Amino acid sequence: MIIAIDGPAGSGKSTLARELAHAFGFEKLDTGALYRALAYTCLREGIDLHDPAAIEARAQALTLIFDGTGEETRITADGQDVSEAIRTPEVDRAVSCVAILPGVRQALLPAQRRFAEGRNVVAEGRDIGTVVFPQAELKVYLDADPHIRAVRRLAQREAKQHEQIDQARHDRDLVQTQQALEARDAADAQNMQPAEDAIRIDSSSKSIDELVHMIGELISG
Ligand code: C5P
Repeated sequence: MIIAIDGPAGSGKSTLARELAHAFGFEKLDTGALYRALAYTCLREGIDLHDPAAIEARAQALTLIFDGTGEETRITADGQDVSEAIRTPEVDRAVSCVAILPGVRQALLPAQRRFAEGRNVVAEGRDIGTVVFPQAELKVYLDADPHIRAVRRLAQREAKQHEQIDQARHDRDLVQTQQALEARDAADAQNMQPAEDAIRIDSSSKSIDELVHMIGELISG
């Protein structure tokens, strides 16, 4: 069985996918991690983000190995564990430049489909229900108010920082986070259309428990 969860950054996809995978014994596939790993590789190797041919060639040559069995997604790119390195503001800014390229999307497609062969999978991304797994048994399109998405995203980042953050800095970071999310939404828009048969949920005022309960009923139902 395949469950597709699509939607913009900060809509709650990753948390929902993790909780569903846990509750139902599925593996999770975070497809954003693949695009992030490519963007990180390009940044590290000094590949020009405005050179589509170079990026597409790198995508074709890159070996990505994904492990969705644990709590945290692990991913290696050409043998190097990049699981933490791909979650930085620098990669956030670069990732849409690589994800927009048709040759990149094509190059990363087989790995996503292979991952689901013979497995029960919760796959999250932007085009899971439309392109990667149009045959998914259950499709969810999760969205939320941009301000709430920014608050969630910043809270995740601050939880990982081991320093005291004062209110003024928090407020500044929140404005920047929301601007960055909205810029990424705009850049990703063309590959972020809900599937016609997706169940659309606004997660703005829903807790993760409510979401898991709602989707859980659909899976069992
Ligand atoms: O989900 P996450 O925010 O980690 O995704 C990072 C980026 O990867 C997105 O902003 C988008 O550019 C790209 N992406 C995509 N198609 C997917 C998943 C992610 O284009 N299925």
